[in-house]
Amino acid sequence: MEEENNISRRKLLGGLGASLAAAAVSPILSAEAAPGPTAAPLQDPTTKYPRPPFKGQSQPWPGLASQMDPKPDHGETSYKGSGRLQGRKALITGGDSGMGRAAAIAYAREGADVAINYLPAEEADAKEVIALIKKEGRKGIAIPGDLRDEAFCKKLVDEAVRQLGGLDIVVSNAGRQQAHASILDISTEQFDWTMKTNIYAPFWIIKAALPHLPPGSAIIGSTSEQATDPSEDLYDYAQTKAATTNYVRSLAKQLAPKGIRVNGVAPGPIWTPLQVSGGATQEKLKEFGGNTPMKRPGQPVELASIYVQLAASDASYATGQIYGSAGGKGMP
Ligand code: NAD
Ligand code: MG
Repeated sequence: MEEENNISRRKLLGGLGASLAAAAVSPILSAEAAPGPTAAPLQDPTTKYPRPPFKGQSQPWPGLASQMDPKPDHGETSYKGSGRLQGRKALITGGDSGMGRAAAIAYAREGADVAINYLPAEEADAKEVIALIKKEGRKGIAIPGDLRDEAFCKKLVDEAVRQLGGLDIVVSNAGRQQAHASILDISTEQFDWTMKTNIYAPFWIIKAALPHLPPGSAIIGSTSEQATDPSEDLYDYAQTKAATTNYVRSLAKQLAPKGIRVNGVAPGPIWTPLQVSGGATQEKLKEFGGNTPMKRPGQPVELASIYVQLAASDASYATGQIYGSAGGKGMP
């Protein structure tokens, strides 16, 4: 083993010497060798994406990314993979739009096969995602259906396992957010809808997935800055995000001995259909993200690399963590 390490180290250093020598004689080679395949030019994050004021806009729930103005960036033209998830098999709920779509595109470009779940009303967005996954030469599997139904959650996992030929990444990302100025405006039906989507569905999906997940698998929950800094008009939603952060930490402890990691992503204000289909008031939407130190909302693509990092096997010691991305505001 010691000897093997020495040999591979010698080979590595030898190889490095050769490429350094080549770089010294060839400016073209050195220019190619310097930035990695995923390197992007240095850019000021404050001016990289649209800033408020935004046009007022409203769509019937659950909304479509394709109908938003400006259109969100999910990395369609920008995300470049480098084989970090080669051969992995992922299920992403809410994979048609927003953060789920950014994760789906990035996962495929990193070499994973991807199944996405979404609502039938979102077929148009989902079709675009499936086409992008397939363009990478990966399996792209569409499994529409309503996650408020326990039987469907089980069917979703079974179908993903069957069509992917296994499962080792579960991204529980779908979410329901409707703003209500007062607790008095929230009906029991609304409250139940939010709880079923944001708390029950991950419970049902993870339960169904667990028997299929080999050691090395990753579970990722989409939580929020709302978990720790709830807005006054998101009474029901914010508490589901506190629950998400909490289940991530509990399950991480429970599943670490099985070699399964559980982490969460806590976005700040991100430009997605959820916000224009009842998630934010028109007033808030027009100035969306303006109250962050970056003075703009995030775009879904800006979280893609976090979803990749948490799934990748080189993050093998990270579990029970919440990774934030909120433009300088909020604490994960
Ligand atoms: P999004 O609207 O693009 O994604 C949410 C998805 O949830 C929808 O596409 C839909 O497919 C799915 N969904 C909702 N109810 C469902 C149901 N009953 N059955 C099946 N699917 C259902 O918006 P997004 O902002 O990308 O949301 C993704 C996650 O990020 C959510 O959990 C949300 O709470 C969280 N989040 C969003 C923000 C933000 O500012 N946009 C901030 C923090 C956290
Ligand atoms: Mg959607």
